[in-house]
Formats: sequence, C-alpha cells, structure tokens
Amino acid sequence: MAECTVCFRHCHIPEGKLGFCGGRIARNGKVEAFHYGRISSLALDPIEKKPLARFFPGSRILSVGSFGCNLRCPFCQNHEITWSEQAAAAARTAETAAPEALAELALATRQKGNIGIAFTYNEPLIGYEFVRDTARLVKAEGMVNVMVTNGTAETAILEELKPCIDAMNIDLKGFTDRYYSRFLGGDRQQVLAFIEAAVQFCHVELTTLIVPGENDGDQEMRELSRWVSRLRNPDGAGIPLHISRFFPRFHLQDRDATAVRTVLRLAEIARDNLEYVYTGNC
Ligand code: SF4
Repeated sequence: MAECTVCFRHCHIPEGKLGFCGGRIARNGKVEAFHYGRISSLALDPIEKKPLARFFPGSRILSVGSFGCNLRCPFCQNHEITWSEQAAAAARTAETAAPEALAELALATRQKGNIGIAFTYNEPLIGYEFVRDTARLVKAEGMVNVMVTNGTAETAILEELKPCIDAMNIDLKGFTDRYYSRFLGGDRQQVLAFIEAAVQFCHVELTTLIVPGENDGDQEMRELSRWVSRLRNPDGAGIPLHISRFFPRFHLQDRDATAVRTVLRLAEIARDNLEYVYTGNC
C-alpha cells in the first residue's frame, strides 16, 4: 500500500492498483503517474479557448490532454477522457508521446502562431510529472506553458512546476463547501489555497461554470468575487474571472441550460468587485 499526496483524497493505493482519479498507480511502494505520455487529445487552439483573455491575446497554443480526473462533476464535458468507463477503455489504447516529441512539435508549430503548450482537457495535475518534464523542455526553447486545472492539489506539487508554468486557468466552480463536496466530489478549501499559491508565481485566470439551482445565487457570486478581488497577479493586475453557461451533459440532464440573463446578471455582480469579468458560452 502506498499513499498518494497529490490531492486532498490522499488515496492509500494497493500495489499495482490505481487511485480514485484513475491517473496514478502504486508501483514498488511508490505512487507515480499511470498515464505518463498517454495522449487523449492534441490541438492547436486559440489561447482564448482555454480560456485565457489576458495572456498573449490573439495567439495559439498547442493543447494536450491525457486521461483521468480527481473530481466527479456530473456535467463533465470531457467525460470520454476523465471519469467514465469509456475513459478507462480509451486510455488503454491511447497513443503515447515523449516530452521531447511534444516539445519538438511545439517548436515546429511556432510559425503557425503557437506560443507553447497548454496542459488541458483532463486534469493535468494528476500526471504532474509529465507536465513538469515536458514544460521544462518547452521553456528551454523560449516558449511558454499553461495549465488548465481544477486546482484540486496540494500546494507542494506547485514547487516542482513553478519554474516552468507561465499561466493557469483554474476552476473556482462555486463558493460553498456543500457544492464542492456533495456535487463535485471536491474540496473548496484546497482549491482556494491552490489559487492563492498560484498567483504568487504565474498569471492566473479563474472560471466559474454556473449550474442552475446549484451555484447561481447572487450572494454566492458576491462572496466569490469579493474573495477573488483580494488577489493580484504577479504583474499587479486583478485576476480575470470567466463566468460561463452550463449545458445539460453526461449525468446532469435534469435541468435546462443556464439562462443567458442569469450569466449576465452574475457578471454584473462580479464587476462590482472585479475589473476583468468575461462571460462564456453565451
Ligand atoms: S491524485 Fe488521484 S490517486 Fe492521488 S490522492 Fe488524488 S485521487 Fe487519489
């Protein structure tokens, strides 16, 4: 049995078995990334799609995903590669790429507007060793690295990533412990601590997906935006917040898409506290 210390779950994993996220395995008494180099998706995306609105706007970034996730959001739009049975099956037959190959590809796509690599689509922190090894090479080529993450990890993990991660979009999915623990299988306090640590060393933007009946209250957005307003990015600017619209997906089909007027109303509330507020999927 070995203990994984990446996220709040601290899984105790029997030898040869996977942790809760499906992305870490116990081998020889230690826990390591099970999907190291296994690629689920690869695309040259506009940076705004991550979403990052205030980090090299107008550029493109080579976006790479793997498999697994340590949350259980019932509305996951990437469930084919995160926590469904389909994800586990797809991982078994996935192509692999070494960090060197990805860094070379990043460099080769520079003339198409690529600025580096974004680790995204599934939760990259459950395979942080691959992120670290690839990002170091990308950085050495004078390019940048981005992580799109749920922020559900111990801040100690960031010590290894700090030197090579330039920007993150971090989900701040809501602002109640109940929503995080009962609805998402997460831990809000860990996410808040992670965000506070991340803004110390890289550009951070946050994303809140508004789910009808769950996290769409005015008071919740008031408290969330007030908390975010205390933080500053390393350049001294305020933290951008992306408020986006939910659509029925995966295990959450019992309600309609978020009304556009709800997203716009919550964005107005957030603007009372924040300088940079963006709406998504509207
Ligand atoms: S990262 Fe995965 S294996 Fe590690 S504690 Fe979290 S859920 Fe468990």
